[in-house]
Amino acid sequence: MLFEIKELKSEILSDPVENLTSNPALAVEQITGWCIQILDILEKIEMMALGRKVINENEMGYLLEEECHLCRGQGKITHPEWLEYWDAYMLKKEEIEEKNSNLKWSEIDNVVKTELEKMGVTEPLDKPEEIVCPICNGKGDVLTSYGKTLLHFLKRHWDEI
Ligand SMILES: [Zn+2]
Repeated sequence: MLFEIKELKSEILSDPVENLTSNPALAVEQITGWCIQILDILEKIEMMALGRKVINENEMGYLLEEECHLCRGQGKITHPEWLEYWDAYMLKKEEIEEKNSNLKWSEIDNVVKTELEKMGVTEPLDKPEEIVCPICNGKGDVLTSYGKTLLHFLKRHWDEI
């Protein structure tokens, strides 16, 4: 492109003015030719700028999917009942550790479980510890609003593809 512009520029600058003024028909033809070449170059510049704009917008603004906020991209989450149990477990564990700093890990675990059982809190063994994330259905990523828009249009015009 730069080569085309430089070539055209040197052609216009080097052409003796006398040649053009002495032959109006040739001058018109020559100038028209240059104008068309200039317009061709402008068209190419416009197309390149448009292409760059589309690419930039897609990289910066039109993100189609993003990490799922609930499972943080894992596709699975801890079952809510287990989450509740582990919260109670951790609270009780802190309490036991404060009172009994000399206990081993396995002893603390036993005391915590016993104390929790007394409170009626037991491991929800009938539930799986991990379940498929209900937000992203296990994919780990979710569609952004741009992604949803694109999907909407694809669904609507699927028969035209
Ligand atoms: Zn998820």
